[in-house]
Amino acid sequence: MPLWTEIADRIYLRRYDPLDISVALIRGDNDLVLVDTRCNPREAEEIRADATALGFGDITRVVNTHAHYDHSFGNSVFAGSAVLYGHAGIPAHFATFEAPRLADWQSDPAAQPQYDWRDVTLTVPSVLVDEDTELDLGNRIVRLLPLGPGHTDTDLVVHIPDAHTWIVGDVIEESGPPMYGSGSFPLDWPDQVLALSSGMRDGDVVIPGHGAPVDRNFVERQERSLRKVADGIRESFARSEPLELVIDRLAGATGLAESILEAAVYRGYTLLAGTA
Ligand SMILES: [Zn+2]
Repeated sequence: MPLWTEIADRIYLRRYDPLDISVALIRGDNDLVLVDTRCNPREAEEIRADATALGFGDITRVVNTHAHYDHSFGNSVFAGSAVLYGHAGIPAHFATFEAPRLADWQSDPAAQPQYDWRDVTLTVPSVLVDEDTELDLGNRIVRLLPLGPGHTDTDLVVHIPDAHTWIVGDVIEESGPPMYGSGSFPLDWPDQVLALSSGMRDGDVVIPGHGAPVDRNFVERQERSLRKVADGIRESFARSEPLELVIDRLAGATGLAESILEAAVYRGYTLLAGTA
């Protein structure tokens, strides 16, 4: 994996394995902001060491793009030294999805030894963001934009207007397909992306949660793909079609893997039936 890349003015991107997670640093005159903390304290300490090596001083603020483990389970490392920001839905999402999942993994550490789950302490951000919020880093403004339900119910986009850069978490993915994971909203997700892309201009840099930076065209293509899935689920639910049939048809229409679509359709049907 390459080292930090300055992908826009004083915005540094580094892609970490496992999972090809995009981690970003945003530098202002008075603050150094980290976006996302990876899967566990060991991995977060690695980010801190790699950031220190840049010589910009300490990380003073941390932002989570959403609550999923690969973006927030390293939070505890920064809790004592930085201000942590995240979507206001994170406490509820942690309680419903991440805490039970972590307990499961911690009960059988031998199953995934590469992740060091035993050291993870779920750490809710100290500042919960429920409306568009500006952070002043010193001669630089960063906007935190909490979204409605989409990839999760905790999606938060980081916009750096002076650098025409958007850090969007897994609302957009480049190195893999969109993930309909725990707490996803497949029916609403395309509308969130559409609203987001309407604020973007040609030439803007978009950093996805996993993979290489993309542009507004890529975001619009992903919106169309997500919308095919959402529309397909709605139509099929209205016709009471069995899940296998919908999955098969959507696989043909979108090129997405059946395992991805299975999660989307199951979740979509559950939401439409009102049993989520
Ligand atoms: Zn992710």
